[in-house]
Amino acid sequence: MLLAEIISVGTELVFGEIVDSNAAFLARELGARGVTLRRKTVLGDNLERVTEGVRLALSRADLVLLGGGLGPTDDDLTREAIAAALGETPSEDPELIAWLRGLYGARGRVMPELNRKQAWLIPSADALPNPVGTAPGWFVRPGGEWAGKLIVALPGPPREMQRMWREQVLPRLPLPSRALVHTTIHTQGIGESNVAELLGDLTRQANPSVATYARRTGVDLRIAASADSEAAARALLAPVLAMVREKVARWTWGEDGDTLAGAVTAALRGRKLGVIEAGSGGTLCTLLADEPSFYDAAVTQNHARLITLGLTPVTLRDAGLVSEQAARELAAGARVHLASDVGLSVVVAAQGEGAGQAYAALDTGDTQQVSAVNWPGDPAQIRERAAVAALVLAHR
Ligand code: ATP
Ligand code: MG
Repeated sequence: MLLAEIISVGTELVFGEIVDSNAAFLARELGARGVTLRRKTVLGDNLERVTEGVRLALSRADLVLLGGGLGPTDDDLTREAIAAALGETPSEDPELIAWLRGLYGARGRVMPELNRKQAWLIPSADALPNPVGTAPGWFVRPGGEWAGKLIVALPGPPREMQRMWREQVLPRLPLPSRALVHTTIHTQGIGESNVAELLGDLTRQANPSVATYARRTGVDLRIAASADSEAAARALLAPVLAMVREKVARWTWGEDGDTLAGAVTAALRGRKLGVIEAGSGGTLCTLLADEPSFYDAAVTQNHARLITLGLTPVTLRDAGLVSEQAARELAAGARVHLASDVGLSVVVAAQGEGAGQAYAALDTGDTQQVSAVNWPGDPAQIRERAAVAALVLAHR
């Protein structure tokens, strides 16, 4: 079993000014490849603490992954900390310094002296080329007391870290040969505890495992299996997956990378969709932007314009813009005034009076459906929930 620890380095991470998304990414990557992650640590830019962190992690794990602190400035201390933890002395690598100077030269600039430490190596470290930045990573095979263990240091910017992880680190890691396969089923309209009830004992077995997650688009079910080969893992997964698919078929709108907006397009079967949004700032349009069914839209809070789009002055006066009736009229209006086959509307009060209230409506010409959303507090969330509620109406 390969045991791993992650250390994220950066004072801004400790203080919560940025969220440690790198560790989340690496944790998912490790888990998918059969590596057992034992601990994640976040440490500030402090030489003593990072050095101690590296030594502690080495004493517990086979693989220590460090993120951040590879920049050129004085508070970028990851190289120094690894060297100190291993009792090695860094020196400038001629190839790396030439590469760095070349990078600057190609942009017509002279490399600042500060950047020289990005060309450092220690005897037990190989450099990991960085195709998108100036900070090379380190792949360290320590000797002596830590022989057989590995330390990997990657830069902090997620774009650089993720690319180097895939291109440089993964091919060098002695990964366990176990294969993990999984499928996620997306459902709508059934609660997490009802799903759990339906599944019964299935959720209590370990391999394949069946787990449920409540997402803003509904409940997801993740079915995963691991075995010595991918074929064996798939064979193990298949019967359980078939069973789960059957149990939740009534509520299922997609699997894995499918989106709710994609499910809407599938449900429309070639019909054109018109959208009117009042108060949600284009949130629904953004979710639909890639969809071929998405034909036309109006995003407005202007009452006069909404009236030209089908809202009646009587409704506006008596029920108000954020009302079930207004949503219905605008869904019908989207169909008629936006020359579409199916009309979808959202009316949202994200701020001010009635904040947190929203309605979504669908008009297919034959039928109308409305759903009400109430989510006091966070304007961005009420907009998003209203947009998702509209997609939920339209995906069947
Ligand atoms: P650089 O050469 O860019 O200085 P670095 O390796 O020194 O790289 P840091 O200075 O630690 O990296 O971080 C640079 C930026 O990368 C941070 O400002 C932040 O935006 C992002 N970043 C760093 N660590 C993380 C992390 N754990 N999760 C998400 N983003 C991160
Ligand atoms: Mg930095």
